[in-house]
Amino acid sequence: FLYNQVQDLKGAIRVYCRVRPFLTGQSNVQSTVDYIGENGDMMIVNPFKQGKDARRVFSFDKVFGTSVTQEQIYADTQPLIRSVLDGYNVCVFAYGQTGSGKTYTMSGPDLSAEETWGVNYRALRDLFYISKERSDSIKYEVFVQMIEIYNEQVRDLLVSDGSNRRLDIRNTTQLNGLNVPDAFLVPVTCTRDVLNLMKIGQKNRAVGATALNERSSRSHSVFTVHVRGRELVSNSILRGCLHLVDLAGSERVDKSEAVGERLKEAQHINRSLSALGDVISALAQKSLHIPYRNSKLTQVLQDSLGGHAKTLMFVHINPELNAIGETISTLKFAERVA
Ligand code: ADP
Ligand code: MG
Repeated sequence: FLYNQVQDLKGAIRVYCRVRPFLTGQSNVQSTVDYIGENGDMMIVNPFKQGKDARRVFSFDKVFGTSVTQEQIYADTQPLIRSVLDGYNVCVFAYGQTGSGKTYTMSGPDLSAEETWGVNYRALRDLFYISKERSDSIKYEVFVQMIEIYNEQVRDLLVSDGSNRRLDIRNTTQLNGLNVPDAFLVPVTCTRDVLNLMKIGQKNRAVGATALNERSSRSHSVFTVHVRGRELVSNSILRGCLHLVDLAGSERVDKSEAVGERLKEAQHINRSLSALGDVISALAQKSLHIPYRNSKLTQVLQDSLGGHAKTLMFVHINPELNAIGETISTLKFAERVA
């Protein structure tokens, strides 16, 4: 059963849309999400528009409404995650404007409450669980790296010596998918190890103040899990790699508001998100030329985008009326890569 599900996902690019609930204190507010259908359809209403632009239907592989739990989200991600132990490379992205729920999906709101854990921790817990289950036939080793890409520079989130060392990207098969070979590569054996590393990484992540969100993330964070398995009978080695990517906020920044550093950040973010969109849509269209070289993000992930690799993009929607512009542009981005 599981095998068939995994086969179905092979080479595929999936797009899931998740609608953030209204936050506490907001009641009786109008939502821009009119309905969510059974087959991954959703209708967006734009009260600022007339005629055919007032209502638009978007279709994805799945659409998750505001009452969907972290557990349900993970249930639909699990087959993909598990295939890493069979030697696949997998990328999971969280895309959306600041405040739309990217970090909630990937990490969750509260590390100390296991039932609120996001995809990252559930994925690792699952990988450890399965590798233990298979330990009679395969001996697995798991390593993690955590980097961020800020203003087109790659930095190690697991080194907190303040050195801000810039890391190089190297795409060579000899490195077995270690595209950022100088980033700290930490062996982990249990979920607790991972939690501790994530805490260090999150603390080191660049945050800046914007009008939208005081601590909005202006960098892409890439949490990478490298798995190496040795089959005990044949002694053959398999390798799989999982990238869990919490992208920088996708909002377009008003040029009259952002100046200096903020403007530079915004331009880097826009450029790298469109480079990511270009790569995924080229892959979706089975194009012969895949433009990996246009951003650091796509260079880092090159081995895990395309070929036999699997990609899952979570796009996040803030259902508030004043977010309608960003909601439409997020959904258009998602439609292009689906
Ligand atoms: P982003 O990372 O995209 O900037 P966050 O994940 O930080 O957004 O979410 C913004 C706020 O909304 C946070 O307070 C978060 O706890 C809350 N939130 C996001 N998604 C959900 C959800 N599915 N259920 C409940 N609260 C959520
Ligand atoms: Mg965030």
